[in-house]
Amino acid sequence: MNFINTGIKAVILDMDGVLWKSNEPLCDLNELFQKFRANHLQFLFATNNALRTVAQYVEKFKSLGVQVSKEQILTSAIATGYLLAKDFPHGGPIYIMGSPALEATLKEYGFTFTEDDPIAVVGGLDPNVSYDRLKKASLFIQSGVPFYFTNTDPTYPTPEGLCPGAGTFLAALETASGVKAKIAGKPMPFLFEACLQRTGTLPEETLTVGDRIETDIIGGFRAGCKTALVLSGVSSSSDLEGLTRKPDFILENVMQLFD
Ligand SMILES: [Mg+2]
Repeated sequence: MNFINTGIKAVILDMDGVLWKSNEPLCDLNELFQKFRANHLQFLFATNNALRTVAQYVEKFKSLGVQVSKEQILTSAIATGYLLAKDFPHGGPIYIMGSPALEATLKEYGFTFTEDDPIAVVGGLDPNVSYDRLKKASLFIQSGVPFYFTNTDPTYPTPEGLCPGAGTFLAALETASGVKAKIAGKPMPFLFEACLQRTGTLPEETLTVGDRIETDIIGGFRAGCKTALVLSGVSSSSDLEGLTRKPDFILENVMQLFD
């Protein structure tokens, strides 16, 4: 594809399955980022994984030999903060069941944490989940407190294999409470909307790149962005067959953006 004729000014990249697989880079990241810069393209990274903080992602890039800034990285924790701030512009006390990284992010958006009388229940992948926290969250939700969740990914990849993801915890709470959560991460548009807030570009001037159709591509459609599916991760070309709307670009790997 050729950026010059597409009007694209910013690129939002998923990370796992696009830039790397676990700890193995899928391309020369230095070369890729230099190409973005040489073509005057802003580039950001957007992931549903809220287990790591932005600072930890910066470290991950560093370990792979590339420098990125904190402002370039957005997780579903940030999408959750963005969505909550839309609904509760003045912040307030929330009941949280999630990772320390999610807590730290929501604090930055003006939310505090409470065990009684929350304005919202917010959930995500909680590495320290207990029956007690699930129970409390479920009781609040049943009493009518608005219910938010970072993302729906049932699993996430680790060197040990697929481990229980946010969706596993979401299923537990939705089952217990009988209420569906408002979702912040992909395939909802909010993570991409938070990215657009940073790039200052219009959706149609922005390309989202991802390896998973159900999250990256559908989320890109909903946000009104252009979309590129890379076949270096989860989804394969046969997964495209049933789709009524296809991604704008289908690439073997992310480097092909510049072929
Ligand atoms: Mg991915």
